[in-house]
Amino acid sequence: MNVTSCPHCQQKTFAGLKKIWIGPNRSVRCSHCQNKVGVLRTKAWLALSPFLLALGFNFYSASALARYLMIAICTLTSSLLYIYWLPLEKR
Ligand SMILES: [Zn+2]
Repeated sequence: MNVTSCPHCQQKTFAGLKKIWIGPNRSVRCSHCQNKVGVLRTKAWLALSPFLLALGFNFYSASALARYLMIAICTLTSSLLYIYWLPLEKR
């Protein structure tokens, strides 16, 4: 099974950015089979941790350039983990 496939019907209905809108505590309906789908909560928080870390770094950093660079890298890392590593589950 692919990480963008619906766990109910196996269709690739959650490709790319569509998956980002499924938060760790949210579920959405598959556009193909209409069953509820969510993300694996523990792995979702792990995938979001670089982004959350960037928010903490932002608060304490002195350099504006370092701040923006850190936010950009961490947001990109979280997005890629969320899309390509995080599995979907039945809800
Ligand atoms: Zn489906």
